[in-house]
Amino acid sequence: MDAALARLSSELRGTLVLPGDESYDDARRVWNAAIDRRPAAIARCAGANDVVRAVDFARSHGLPIAVRGGGHSFAGKSTCDGGLVIDCSPIKQIEVDAVGRRARAGGGCTLADFDGATQAHGLATTMGTAPPTGIAGLTLGGGLGWLMGRFGLACDNLVGAEVVTADGRVVRTSPTERPDLLWGLRGGGGNFGVVTTFEYRLHPVTTVLGGVVTYPVDRAADVLRLYRDVTATAPDELTAIGGILPLATGPAFGIAVCWCGDPGPGERALAPLRRLGGLLEDTIRPIPYLEMQSLLSPPPMRIGSYARSSFLSELSDGAIEVMAARAVVPTPVISVFFLEELHGRANAVEPGGSAFSHRARGHNFAVMAMWLDPADADVAAALVRDFFADMAPFLASGVYSNYLGDEGDARVRAAYGPAWDRLVRLKRAYDPDNVFRLNQNVTSE
Ligand SMILES: Cc1cc2nc3c(=O)[nH]c(=O)nc-3n(C[C@H](O)[C@H](O)[C@H](O)COP(=O)(O)OP(=O)(O)OC[C@H]3O[C@@H](n4cnc5c(N)ncnc54)[C@H](O)[C@@H]3O)c2cc1C
Repeated sequence: MDAALARLSSELRGTLVLPGDESYDDARRVWNAAIDRRPAAIARCAGANDVVRAVDFARSHGLPIAVRGGGHSFAGKSTCDGGLVIDCSPIKQIEVDAVGRRARAGGGCTLADFDGATQAHGLATTMGTAPPTGIAGLTLGGGLGWLMGRFGLACDNLVGAEVVTADGRVVRTSPTERPDLLWGLRGGGGNFGVVTTFEYRLHPVTTVLGGVVTYPVDRAADVLRLYRDVTATAPDELTAIGGILPLATGPAFGIAVCWCGDPGPGERALAPLRRLGGLLEDTIRPIPYLEMQSLLSPPPMRIGSYARSSFLSELSDGAIEVMAARAVVPTPVISVFFLEELHGRANAVEPGGSAFSHRARGHNFAVMAMWLDPADADVAAALVRDFFADMAPFLASGVYSNYLGDEGDARVRAAYGPAWDRLVRLKRAYDPDNVFRLNQNVTSE
């Protein structure tokens, strides 16, 4: 194996990092510090050819493959013990066609890379809300973000891709070339290959009306009802997230918003957020889109994290009472929970139109606890599980695959919902041996 790894290393344009190398501990690290795995090797790929070599190598030596973009998988799916990590993070080229409003971005770009390059042209497309997240995992799972009400999810703006398949071919997909594969990349996760280039549709976005209103936590029930009222009639331009928010400045209770349309109607739509008594802080104002994208940035230090999430069947008074009761209880670890509403273009895809299948207007609920000291991991997980159990009567069966942990086959099926059967057929066509299985896995049986 040592000789084979040495040969692989010499064939790569990027670098192969092995146990014992000085950079090994850095290279094997992922965002969630609770995940501590020791791959046999990490191929830091410089482009599609490196990925082809890495896939061939892992297959011929019977090594499991983990594929990494930005390393932000909650479940730690982008690393493994004893296998080969195909690390796409060095693949960062970005080309913006400002006239055609298209961007081609390497599979290792973070949101910060992508937003920075597209904003230089006054353009953007929906991405997530935390700049270090990878565009790859985010887009392949769906991609919820501040622009989704007006422009759809990240995956809805994916118009093409270059993919290294399980049999080591480099293929293109677009609405006219292998459209079945493009359908699967729009929400089917990393099941069908390693995406080395993503091509997106872009939209003119420069300044948005954005920020947060925060309230004392003992106003939680009133504030969550306000969130419900405002989102119930929200125009497509408004996206709101309510709860104990992971603000870049630290957790705070409130409602964060982004209005990405004309400011006049935006000010009118947002006015009710300020009318509730007890307002602590109101940062909503016209801001550059890049500032909006940093509002919910997680702390830069290494934190362990445990999360649960589900779509709600309805944001009822009962659900609000449970969240409000939880909000006031001090917790021994940092904990946040939030609701994010999907409406407008995020729901405008016809049934079966993409592998992401949660298209009903409604709210996604997520609860997460984080720790710096690994000794707090169990307390944090128990806290999340208890909160989630309290919410059980109000939860729908569907769950967003990108917020899923290791929660068993039934939850994976719930994440893919009605798209499951078609995903299985696609898996048989593109990856019949399930080479790409370290993900929210579509099994081909
Ligand atoms: C702090 C934080 C904030 C987040 N905020 C949001 C948010 O606002 N909106 C949202 O929708 N989600 C959000 N998420 C969830 C996020 O979308 C997922 O965790 C996503 O998987 C991260 O993508 P990544 O490339 O960084 O992850 P990785 O851990 O690198 O990859 C996750 C999985 O994606 C697949 N994958 C990665 N790269 C490739 C590739 N090049 N080709 C094929 N498959 C690949 C693999 O299956 C891999 O297991 C957030 C997560 C975190 C930790």
